[in-house]
Amino acid sequence: MVKNKDIIDVIHEKDLEEFLTNTSLYEDFKKEKINCRYCEKTIYQHNICGIFINMGEIKFICNDESCYEKLISYHGGENID
Ligand SMILES: [Zn+2]
Repeated sequence: MVKNKDIIDVIHEKDLEEFLTNTSLYEDFKKEKINCRYCEKTIYQHNICGIFINMGEIKFICNDESCYEKLISYHGGENID
């Protein structure tokens, strides 16, 4: 199964805001209700590392080293779970 498409790599603050505004997630993000896909830490603007879309859902990754490594291996096409 191909899973490594639709990845949005590390993004700039302005792009992030624009991206989130285009989704329904901006309000959640501002209310700090978004969590890291891997460690479930709350995602803030200062600790966001990447975003990817999996099965139509937007997933956020924090800048924790181990989460980043998982994102990289996902990037390589490995199963995210
Ligand atoms: Zn994390």
